[in-house]
Order: sequence, then structure tokens, then C-alpha cells
Amino acid sequence: SVRVRFAPSPTGYLHLGGLRTALYNYLYAKSKNGKFILRIEDTDQTRLVHGAAQQLKDDLMWAGIEIDEGPNIGGSVGPYIQSDRLQIYKEQIKTLLDNETAYPCFCTEKRLDLLRRQAVKNQEVPKYDNKCRHLSKEQISEKWKEGAQPCIRFKLSSDITCFEDLIYGKISYNVSQQEGDPVIMKADGYPTYHFANIVDDHFMEISHVLRGVEWQISTTKHLLLYRAFGWNPPKFGHLPLLLNSDGTKFSKRQNDIKISHYRDSGIFPLALLNFVLDAGGGFQKDLEQNVKPRFYTIDDLSSQFNLAQLKTHSGRLMPEKLLEFNQLELRRLLQNKSGESDLIKSVQNMLQRHFDNSTNDASLQMDEEHIRSVLHWCADRIKKLSDLVSHDLSFVWTMPKYYNLKKNELIFLDDLTVLLENQNEFSKNDLSKFLRSFAEQRNVKFNELMMALRSVLSGLKQGPGVAEMMEILGKDTTIHRLKMCLN
Ligand code: GLU
Repeated sequence: SVRVRFAPSPTGYLHLGGLRTALYNYLYAKSKNGKFILRIEDTDQTRLVHGAAQQLKDDLMWAGIEIDEGPNIGGSVGPYIQSDRLQIYKEQIKTLLDNETAYPCFCTEKRLDLLRRQAVKNQEVPKYDNKCRHLSKEQISEKWKEGAQPCIRFKLSSDITCFEDLIYGKISYNVSQQEGDPVIMKADGYPTYHFANIVDDHFMEISHVLRGVEWQISTTKHLLLYRAFGWNPPKFGHLPLLLNSDGTKFSKRQNDIKISHYRDSGIFPLALLNFVLDAGGGFQKDLEQNVKPRFYTIDDLSSQFNLAQLKTHSGRLMPEKLLEFNQLELRRLLQNKSGESDLIKSVQNMLQRHFDNSTNDASLQMDEEHIRSVLHWCADRIKKLSDLVSHDLSFVWTMPKYYNLKKNELIFLDDLTVLLENQNEFSKNDLSKFLRSFAEQRNVKFNELMMALRSVLSGLKQGPGVAEMMEILGKDTTIHRLKMCLN
């Protein structure tokens, strides 16, 4: 059975690269009826962030990625936080020491530092010279007696130098030529990433490891570790880099890659998922190449996902596509009752936050019915919900600033108001006809009438058609705004 995991280090929040990795794991699990596991890799104690695991879970949840097993969720192979598994690593390290695929290293920081400096001087890549690999049993017990606190290193070999990557195909990498023997457990008893990672993948019965391509050169090392234990390794697949639209590498330090940043700026989760997948692939070509971006729901995504379709070249993220996807999602949500009512609630919250802070406005209109019609009216004009409170659209919620009418405007608008009170049809088309015939009968220039009405109703010099504005404001509000100006 398929069991995959997302194994982030808890930096405190989920970023776009992490979301991508989590998402592909999740989709793979869903498409194979498998399980998606969250494991927190927090063995680097210097980088610990309080509350990080919870934040990561919240971010994944927001994105619609459901965790089958993980911290505080449960599962039969926990704990799912590495710092709660130290005892397991201590036990497992014994196996490797006993079968002599690992050894204690007593080299001092001073010596290691010297090695590094020498390498830099000779313009070589610094690597450990494997000195302690060759200590005799006697030398080792001598050191122990002296009370030395060794770290444990793993003996690299060239027994495994290639593997079949699920995404890239055959990958060759002779790790023992590139690196010195890696530390797998530090002197303080904490495992390093490589060791903890494969021990956990084994005991958590992970069948497929899908992770960022930056880990590809670690895989032969991991395979050597599996062999040292005599365990069957999972299958490995690596996901290409994510790039900015200009081709530069995405960095964790970029602020706009935090998932919370997208959430806070009105991006819908599903739009963000489509955006990330658009860069990475994983779906049939003809669907992807539609001129209009194809929008996938989470069910489409899991049923149509195919690992073989993943791109192997770096994927560029196109910001303008994110907004297109967001608009598609907005329209999709408006098409069903529960989506619509969720949207209405979000808009209500947003309006409250937005206007409560700035005005104490009695004219504020934010009842459900009004929000519903505004949403349907402007689904094609806005890309995110926050566009609804932009300058151009504020008039649909609240009265514009007072407008100074000229004398002749006062007169014709006054007459118009009286007639409007008897106008029962308040649709765009009826109003359009009505305004034209009013202008003709009263001998007012149509443009002048429009300009004055537009200003009174919206405070804008340009924007949506006047009849359209009147329809969306409704009869009561339209007349109310006219009267406020006329008094
Ligand atoms: N903790 C590693 C990370 O932060 C996990 C790498 C892996 O999936 O093996 O990316």
C-alpha cells in the first residue's frame, strides 16, 4: 500500500516550495488510495521555532490537504515529531556500530576546522578525511576511558552509486567520492537529518519518498544507510525547483512565499494549488495546454494526477496566473449554494474590518442579499475578494463623499428623483431607457446627466455604466443618495 510523508523542518510556517511538496505527496496518496503522513523534522535544535508544528498543520488544512497521520492526529507508527523519537535513534545507532558500518569519531572541532581551512586554501571542497574510521578497537576503548564524547559517523562506500528516480529516471552519484563520512549522530545524542530521516521512513513504512530535487544527491547516501541496516528502501522521486517568473531561484527568505501571505491577501486555497501545479505539472498535456487555464477541483486533482506527467525542468511561477486562477475559483464558488454562502460570510467579515476602522458610516450596506448581488455582478471584474473594497468599488457599500451640484444639475436631478420614485422596474435595461427618455424630454444633454448621476452615486469620474450602478445599488439607495445630495 502507498504511504507517503511530508517531512518539513519546523521553520514556523509553510512556504510555497513546501506546499508544492506536500501537495504532490498528498495527490499521490489520494490517487493510489494511500496514506499521507506529516512528520516534523526538528532535530536541528538551533533552528527550533515554538508553535511551528501547529502553524504548519493549520496552513496545510487551509490549503485543503488532509493529514492521515501526524502529530496530535495520531497513527500507529508515531510519535510523529523527531524530537520525541530520540530513544529510537539511540537504539538504531547500535545496530550500525555493531555491524561496523558506523564508527565513533573523536576528532576535535579544532582539527575539523583545520581540515576545512586547509581545503579552502587548496581551493578544494572541504571534506572529512575519515581519520577515525581507521581507529583500532583498543584505540577506541582508550578514548572512551578518557571520557571523550564522540559523534557517530557512517562509512560511505561506492557500493551504491545510482538509483532509479521516479521522476528523473536513472541518477548516478558516487557519494563516497564527493564527501567524507557523514555524522549521523552528534555528540549530544541528537541524530542528524540523514539518519533520523531514513530510520523514520523505515519504521513509518513509507513506500514512496517525494521531495525537492535538492535532496537528490543525498539519495545514494540514504540507500547505503538502508543497506547497512538490511532494510528495503522506499522508492524515491524528486521534484524540480520552483522558480520566480524571471527564472531566479525561489528563496525561503522571500516574504511572498509564505502561505499565510496568500491567505491574508484574499487568494483562495484551490487557486493557490492550481497555481503551484501549473508550474510543476503532473496532469495530462492537452488539459494543461488549454489557452484558458484549466481549473482543477481537489477531486479532479486527486483522480487525474499522474506522477509520470511531472515536469523535470524547473517550473516558473507566473504571478498573473495566480490571479486568473483566483477569479476562476471565485466564479466556481458562486455557482454553488455553500460556496456562495461562504463567500458572503468572508465578504461580511472583510467589510466589517475594512469599514469599521475607517468610518462610522450609517449608509454602510452589507446585508446578505446585497453582498450576493454585488458578488454575482462583479465576478468578472475582480480577481480577489479584497478588490471589493478598492477605491473603484467602495461606492457599492457606502455613500461617496458629498458632491457639490451645480444649479442646473440640482434642478434636473430633483425632477429625476421624483420620477424614479415611481419607477418600479429597476433593471439596467429599463433604467437605461428611462434615463434616455428623461434626457430627451427635459432637454438635458445625456452626457451631462450621466456625469452628474455618476458623481452623486459613486463619487467616480468613470466606472461601470450609470444604469448598471443604479441596478446594483437598488432603488432605495439610489434615491437616498440623490436626496442627500439635493438637500
Ligand atoms: N526535513 C527535510 C526538509 O526540510 C525533509 C527532506 C526529505 O523529505 O527527505 O526538507
